[in-house]
Amino acid sequence: MNTTCPYCGVGCGVVAGRDGIVGDPDHPANRGKLCVKGTTLGLTLDDRDRLVAPMIGGQQASWPEALDVVAKRFGEAIAERGPDSVAFYVSGQFLTEDYYIANKLMKGFIGSGNIDTNSRLCMASPVAAQIRAFGEDLVPGIYEDFDEADLILFVGSNAAWCHPVLFQRALRARESRGTRIVAIDPRRSATADLADLHIQIAPGGDLALFAALFAKCAAKGALDYDFIARHTAGFDAALAMAHQADPGIDAELFDQFADMIAGTPRLVTAFFQGVNQSVIGTDTVNAILNLHLATGRIGKPGAGPFSLTGQPNAMGGREVGGLATQLAAHLSFDDSAHRDILARFWNAPHLARKPGLKAIDLFDAVHDGRIKALWIAGTNPAESLPRSALVREALERCPFVVVADCWPTATSSRADVVLPAAGWSEKDGTVTNSERMISRQRAFRPAPGEAKPDWWMFKEVACRMGFGEAFAYSSTASIFREHAALSTFENDGARVFDLGPLAAMPDEDYDVMRPIQWPVGRAEPRLFGDGRFPTADGRARFVAVSAEHGAVDEEKKFTLNTGRLRDQWHTMTRTGRVPELMAHREAAAATIAPADAARLGIATGDLAAIGNERGQLILPAMIGADQASGSIFMAMHWTEAHGSASTVNMLAGAERDPISGEPAFKHGKVTMRRIVAQ
Ligand code: SF4
Repeated sequence: MNTTCPYCGVGCGVVAGRDGIVGDPDHPANRGKLCVKGTTLGLTLDDRDRLVAPMIGGQQASWPEALDVVAKRFGEAIAERGPDSVAFYVSGQFLTEDYYIANKLMKGFIGSGNIDTNSRLCMASPVAAQIRAFGEDLVPGIYEDFDEADLILFVGSNAAWCHPVLFQRALRARESRGTRIVAIDPRRSATADLADLHIQIAPGGDLALFAALFAKCAAKGALDYDFIARHTAGFDAALAMAHQADPGIDAELFDQFADMIAGTPRLVTAFFQGVNQSVIGTDTVNAILNLHLATGRIGKPGAGPFSLTGQPNAMGGREVGGLATQLAAHLSFDDSAHRDILARFWNAPHLARKPGLKAIDLFDAVHDGRIKALWIAGTNPAESLPRSALVREALERCPFVVVADCWPTATSSRADVVLPAAGWSEKDGTVTNSERMISRQRAFRPAPGEAKPDWWMFKEVACRMGFGEAFAYSSTASIFREHAALSTFENDGARVFDLGPLAAMPDEDYDVMRPIQWPVGRAEPRLFGDGRFPTADGRARFVAVSAEHGAVDEEKKFTLNTGRLRDQWHTMTRTGRVPELMAHREAAAATIAPADAARLGIATGDLAAIGNERGQLILPAMIGADQASGSIFMAMHWTEAHGSASTVNMLAGAERDPISGEPAFKHGKVTMRRIVAQ
């Protein structure tokens, strides 16, 4: 059975068969290759501790009883306080069909924008920046660009650990064509170790570096003025602002690096959470896009900016309006014509007219009582959101909380109704990877007990709330066809997102569907090669971004950088079950630079207290030569379920990008002190 790996946004194809789970040799994302997480997928098919029956108030219930309660309590809250008194918080682990139904119910029929997703923590800054620059949330490039580039920059990305199969393509390009690899990161990560050059910036220094590169390329005569004149707007203001930027690195190194950029037309800039999870995430992405627009390096083989996605379906969620700030099919809340298109297509007279609450604001609204009923699915915000103590308090205060998940979590333990969800290997649908490639995910074993797919739960509740006519789906194929039809509805080519012929696909074709890239039906999979952008005048926009963001390093405080480990995924509900994966790092630790360790009198293995005004964690210290002085690295994976006193996210604050709402997980402030010597 051909299906797709459920972990990172590379979206590798896998084959589940008698011999276990192996890489799919025909999938274009990976051509049979898998990383260690993919090769151990078979070991995660373990139903111990699964949620297998609906629960109401801690008591087992039937599906009809549970669904009736959910529909009734949501209906009552809406009747008493209006549609904005309810919310859904969903997940990049959702399949596109799950996302489509949840979004249609909330925005189309309940009439509120209050559906957000844990992709807010991951992708919101690139989404906002791409809409500003291109007019639509579009990643221009494809994976083949990594094979064809002469220079690849990994910015705020430990791709060697977090997107291993794609990183291996970059390494192969180095072997075959001499591609140079540069890592731009405050940490000397595994990617930096393998790169030809590591540029160690200060945390948050990437915006200034890219703005300064833009100005330097202008000074070197390396800009594409023909492209700028014919296909862009806003150049002068953006360049004037870029001239004010200080690159923040050694002057000689900066000159050498700028020469490298100026002299290499085939340039790919791949960026990830180090860029996105910042109070300047959106502006930083625009600084990267500005450089590519100014040099005309976009939409060409081996050239383009490339936003790496974290979860397997971060892109699919964006296609169907999984973020509170978007409508389905790349339609926009800001455009009344777009709202009308969607209202007509869905026959939804009460379509939401304004964006809903973004993740952090949404849980603030739960905490202060504005949200009266909340449905959380496929995610564990009690451990994964910043200020986890406040999130837990919010869940306890909320009059009605529903949680749908596969395993019990710190979130489900605070729910009034728990719904058992079918997981990877048990449910059908589609996902879209970082390069806009739609792949089928297929069930190859039955769900345990009474577990059901998420789309079915939302559909059943929609029917009980009186919206049955609009939710008469019999299968994921019927949902996918509607999703595809919406992408073509009244689309005269102004919107790039287009699934065209898939709208008429019979069930049999959906069953055997092979990976397919959108916009469907175009011969050239790269976007913008013709210099046309989906803005009103067809031109891309430079965005004037200021490098003056006022990052202050408070005395005696460390910058807390949270991130991923090679062999773990999110809060370890699956990977934590595989001894082989646990062997890489057996327990949580706080890594500091040798100079800081010497100053604080800390040795590897000492117990240290890391804390701030939100709380304190006691963890073993690790001294890492990879760590920049003044910063601490802690993995985001460990939770109470895996022997940690709490989650590192109890220390993360509410600071977020003002445009995208993405939390600044890379820039917390903490103190550290030794409490017990080894
Ligand atoms: Fe899965 Fe990502 Fe590894 Fe591919 S690179 S096998 S998608 S975790």
